[in-house]
Amino acid sequence: MRRKIIMWAVIFVFSISLLSGCDAQKAKEDSALYQISTLQALMVGAYDGEVTSGHMKHYGDTGLGTFDDLDGEMIVIDGKVYRASVDGSVVEVEDSETIPFANVAFLTTQEPIALSFDGGYDGLKAALDEMFPHQNVPEMFSISGTFTNIEYRSVPEQHEPFPALTEVVKHQAIFKKETISGTIIGFRFPAFFDEMNVTGYHLHFISDDRQNGGHLLDVASGQTWVLAQSLDELSLVFPDNLRDIDMSGTSDSDVKAVESK
Ligand SMILES: [Zn+2]
Repeated sequence: MRRKIIMWAVIFVFSISLLSGCDAQKAKEDSALYQISTLQALMVGAYDGEVTSGHMKHYGDTGLGTFDDLDGEMIVIDGKVYRASVDGSVVEVEDSETIPFANVAFLTTQEPIALSFDGGYDGLKAALDEMFPHQNVPEMFSISGTFTNIEYRSVPEQHEPFPALTEVVKHQAIFKKETISGTIIGFRFPAFFDEMNVTGYHLHFISDDRQNGGHLLDVASGQTWVLAQSLDELSLVFPDNLRDIDMSGTSDSDVKAVESK
C-alpha cells in the first residue's frame, strides 16, 4: 500500500513538472505575456505575494514587477529575478520569494536594433514609437547601452493594513546617475489594458554590474541597442486577494501619478 502511494506521488510530481515544461515551451513559442494580478489591484493595496518567483520563471525570462509587501522593484533579466530595494541595494531573489504583481515574457528576438535618443523619457518613448508604430498589442523591450541623467525609484516594504500605492510613493527613494551602463526592461501596453495595467510604457532599469536599479522615472539620453518582442497572447493570474478588495476607486490619473515623475 505504502509503495503504491509513493508510486502515485512520483507519477503526480512527474506530471506536474511535465505540465510546467509544456507551459513554458508554449509561452516561448507564442510570445505570451504573463501577468500576475492587475496594477489596479496593486494600487489599492493588494501587496500579498502569492505566485513564487520560481513558478513565474516558467513563463518568462524578462520583465518587471514588485514583491510581497511591496518590498522593492523587480527587474527580470536573462532569466534572473532581481530586487531593487528602497535602500539602493540590488540582489537576486530566491525562487521561494512571492510576488503580488508582475509582467514577464520570453525574449526570443535575436536581432538588436541601434537606437540613440535624447529629449528625456519622452524622447525615448517617441523613438520607440517611431521604430515600432503599432499600438494594438503589447510590446516588450530590452534596451541596453549607456544612459545619461537617469532617474529611477524604489518603494519601502509595507505592513498591514496596507496603504494605497498613491500614499506609498510619497515615501519612495529616488536615485540619479549622471552616466551609467545598463538595461532598461519593460513594456508598452495598448490603450485597452486600462482596467488591468498601465497604458503605454512601463520601464525598469538595472545596471550592467547589477548593483543599481529601480522603476524608471526619467532618462536624458542614451546610446543603445534595442531588442523588441511583440507579444501574441496573454496569460493573467487572479490571486486570491483579488476576491477581497474594492477596486472601484482606482482612477487612470492615480495610475499615471504612481508610475511617472
Ligand atoms: Zn514599475
